[in-house]
Parts: sequence; C-alpha cells; structure tokens
Amino acid sequence: MSEEYKGIMVYAEVHNGTIHPVTFELLGKARELANKKGTKVLAALAGYGVKEKAQELIYRGADIVYVTDSEKLKTLDVVAHKSALLKIIEKAKPEAVLIGATNTGRTLAPRVSAYLKTGLTADCTDLFIDDNGNLVQVRPAFSGNIFAHILTKTKPVMSTVRYRTFKPADRDQSRKGEVIDVEMDEIGETGYRVLRKMEREKVNISEAELIISAGRGLKKKEDLEMIRELASLLGATVGASRPLVDDDWISRDHQVGFSGNIVKPKVYIAIGISGSPQHVVGMKDSGTVISINIDPSAPIGEYSDYMIVGDLYEVIPKLIEEIKKLKSQKP
Ligand SMILES: Cc1cc2nc3c(=O)[nH]c(=O)nc-3n(C[C@H](O)[C@H](O)[C@H](O)COP(=O)(O)OP(=O)(O)OC[C@H]3O[C@@H](n4cnc5c(N)ncnc54)[C@H](O)[C@@H]3O)c2cc1C
Repeated sequence: MSEEYKGIMVYAEVHNGTIHPVTFELLGKARELANKKGTKVLAALAGYGVKEKAQELIYRGADIVYVTDSEKLKTLDVVAHKSALLKIIEKAKPEAVLIGATNTGRTLAPRVSAYLKTGLTADCTDLFIDDNGNLVQVRPAFSGNIFAHILTKTKPVMSTVRYRTFKPADRDQSRKGEVIDVEMDEIGETGYRVLRKMEREKVNISEAELIISAGRGLKKKEDLEMIRELASLLGATVGASRPLVDDDWISRDHQVGFSGNIVKPKVYIAIGISGSPQHVVGMKDSGTVISINIDPSAPIGEYSDYMIVGDLYEVIPKLIEEIKKLKSQKP
C-alpha cells in the first residue's frame, strides 16, 4: 500500500440540511477500520450551507472533516458534486472512501472512481482489515448465493454500502476534531438545471419497525388489499418480495432483499414468501420473524421465530377478524 494514501474517508450525504443516517453508519465502520489500521477517520462534507454539520460528524467519529460549502452545490448537480468530492480526495489522499449506496451515492461514486481510475465495489455488506492491512470488501455475488471478498489494487479503495448495513456510530459530544475548508475548482456550466421538483409518495421501508411482506403466495394483485388492511390495523409498513414488484403489483420502494431494501424491523412478517437467499439477505437481521406459509419445508422457516403453516387465504382473514374484535373491545 502506498504510504501516500492515509485515512478512511466517509462521504457525508446531506439533504435539505439533514445528514443522511447512512453517514453515521459509515462513520461507525470507518472508526473500527481506522482503529485497526492506526489511522484517522476523515469525512468529506460538500454542499451549500453545510459547514455547521461538520461538528456533528466529529461527534460521530470523524477526526478531520474536509468541507466544501458552495452555492454551486445547492442542487444535486452531479457534475458539481463530483468536482467537489474529487478536490477533497485530492487534498486529503484517503486510502479508502466509503459512500452510502443511496440514490445520491450511486450517482456520485462511479463518476468519482472512473475519474480517479480506481476500483469501486458496490453494495458491500461488510468491510474488514485483513492480516496484511488490506481493506477487504465483502459483497454478494452470483445472485447473492456467495459472498465475494474483494481487494482493490488501486488507491483510494472505493466502496458503496447500503443503508442499514452497519450499526450507527455512537454520538460523543466530548470528541474533538479538525475542520479543513476546501475551495472547489471553477466548474462553469455543467449542463444540469433543475426545472422543477416532483413530489412522489415514498415508503421508507428501511426505517420501519413493523413490516408485513407479501410474496408469490398471493394469487392476484387485488389480494394485496388484504395485506394492506392487516398492515393498517397493526400500523405496519407493507413489504414485498421481488416477483410482486417485477409484475408491477407494488412499487420498488417496498421490495425487500438483495436488489431491493435492507430492513431491520423489530418484527417482520413474511406471508407467502419462500425465503430465497436474495430475499433473506434483506431481512435476516430483523428482530422477530413470523412467517405464514402453506409449505412447512419452505426455507423461510429456518429464519423464522414463529411459523404459521397454513393457507394465507384462510389465516389472514381470520387474523384481521380477530384483531378487529380485539380493537373494538379496547378503547
Ligand atoms: C439478481 C437477483 C436479485 C434478486 N433480488 C431479490 C430481492 O431483492 N428480493 C426478493 O424477494 N427476491 C429477489 N430475487 C428473486 C429471488 O430469487 C426469488 O425468486 C424471490 O425472492 C421469490 O419470491 P417469493 O418468495 O415471493 O416467491 P416463491 O419463491 O414462489 O415463494 C412463494 C411461497 O408462497 C408459498 N405459498 C403459496 N401459496 C400459498 C398460500 N395460499 N398460503 C401460504 N403460502 C403460500 C409457497 O409455499 C412458497 O414458499 C432476486 C433474484 C436475482 C436473480
């Protein structure tokens, strides 16, 4: 490893003045990696009116925060943000850069790595330092059936990590750190212009505490209403396995799994879901798992704390009826 590159850098994602929680998860992991290597945790904070957030990143484990605060970064103009992050990387020379695999991170990371001619490992599920001091990036491969351990020869090593993969860093207000301002280069016209913002209903399933997910055990799209009714009675968020999303029964925001969202609710109820490795990778860290499946040998059983073996078309209406009865009895 070249001595020129030092420190584990986290890209701090900020939207409308709020730091995306994936940043705190990455800082938690970066702290662990940096302690193992005896190096520093660096943070890259680029945006408009973001400088005051630097202190929060220090409380969460950053030793040095590199800040570019510029009006040019007011919107998510990817060319401008790429240019700002490149300048920070050029100045800080980190040996690794960790970025959240969010829409923003997925837009930014490949552009930065391509410019730097360095490797990027997307959607890592784990990161660790091996006996030789190398950063090992772990990610599912071959449709999630194996976990590949990847070493990047070039520097900086770049990885994206899904939201809710790592534990967030603890907040310690006694932590001290350094803030370094980085002036971004003149970039001129980037070709991006925000014409208007479109509001759309978005489900934040990654943060849900109770999820009721449906799978291909459902026979038709209309039957999802039954799942929605159960979810609404219990104050749960509706999740889905991928086939329901592929068939356009429900939007991708609801998909749990390898190519969907990683969830960690307190309770996860899987209805008519077999438990493929690609689904399980997205929900295996849930608190209590309850499955309803007609097949007692369905793999989801292995990951379930409770399994109701039965036809969902009999079980769900009964559950709804009982919950309604209980609700009507209690004020
Ligand atoms: C690259 C790649 C990425 C993928 N990403 C994802 C992902 O992110 N998320 C995901 O979910 N999948 C993903 N998949 C798809 C995955 O491989 C499986 O095909 C999918 O998870 C199966 O969905 P399912 O469990 O709903 O359906 P099935 O496997 O068909 O299971 C249906 C289950 O319903 C049960 N059932 C049937 N009728 C009833 C009934 N009346 N009452 C009760 N139970 C009943 C059956 O016993 C069965 O266990 C991915 C695949 C690939 C190749």
